[in-house]
Amino acid sequence: MQLHKYLDHKVLGNKKIFIHVNQINELNTKGISINVEGETKQVYFILSRIAGDNLGLNTILGFTKSFNSSYCCRICYYISKDEMHNTTIENNNLLRNVENYKKHSIEKSHGIIENCIFNNIINFHVTKNISIDPMHDLLEGVCRYDIAKILYELIKAFSVEILNERIKYFCHSSSKNIPNIKYESIINKMIILSASEMHYFVLNLGLFIGDLVPTNSSVWKLYVMLQKIVNISMLESVTKDIVDSFAMLISQYLKLYLKIFKCSFKVKHHYLTHYERIMREFGPLKHFSTIRFEAKHKKIKEYSKVMNFRKCLAYFLSLKHQMQLCHRFICNEGFSIRLSYTVKNCAFIC
Ligand SMILES: [Zn+2]
Repeated sequence: MQLHKYLDHKVLGNKKIFIHVNQINELNTKGISINVEGETKQVYFILSRIAGDNLGLNTILGFTKSFNSSYCCRICYYISKDEMHNTTIENNNLLRNVENYKKHSIEKSHGIIENCIFNNIINFHVTKNISIDPMHDLLEGVCRYDIAKILYELIKAFSVEILNERIKYFCHSSSKNIPNIKYESIINKMIILSASEMHYFVLNLGLFIGDLVPTNSSVWKLYVMLQKIVNISMLESVTKDIVDSFAMLISQYLKLYLKIFKCSFKVKHHYLTHYERIMREFGPLKHFSTIRFEAKHKKIKEYSKVMNFRKCLAYFLSLKHQMQLCHRFICNEGFSIRLSYTVKNCAFIC
């Protein structure tokens, strides 16, 4: 685990701040020894992907930090910003690969500021081990913009007060955060909810107000498609049929969005065009989500505010985290058995 100050990163850059990156190669080749019921086992590690939000990923992976640029996508590069913000399907001819990445990296062009330092890690290349984040792209991105626009059209048929009343008196599961929608958010076309609140809201909006929506509403059709996209992105496992239909669903959603709202996409809409291929190659998108890391980030920020000792803050925060983790290991806390199988009938239960 590495924690560092943002200002240190800004001054030192990726090469000097991630000086221990080669330790990952040692974990790959030498591994670590662990004792399992009296027997020593050697465990080896491989870096499959790096998780983070878009700005964080672009920064540490050596891509441009300007999301107004046509080269801000880590997966592809468009020459024209307009083309990128109006395309509803992934363009295979513009995908980044090892060859064009090498060329652009030498030229420092097409959005590449520096050669990704993680490319030195065995079996890792930034164009192959793709990183996305459905939490930031969808729940804290596309849903925030698009649900606001959808509600803006729908509140012509009912008021925000009715919506909030329906939410308030809905039979909620007790563990869920209950969202409250502000009229100003809808007018400003940006609904700020936490990722879990937005997930819950998108999944249940049909139950809240479905009966008030005019039949054959194209805006409602857009919502239904968005709900399906969120649902599929959060699945624990996917079948080939789901993956096959996902690309069509996203393309239809983006086309209908353009038709209804007549405005170009934001960058987070563009990322959706890559989702089907990533799901096909790497599996369920839920496993790309940074939601657990965000929870850790929140805790660490809270601790940093109350710690008086500022000299080696990053060191003590990481030490505190490691000690908490050890406590969980020793107490077996949170290690429920989620997977089981039987050899006889080859059944797997999640
Ligand atoms: Zn792209």
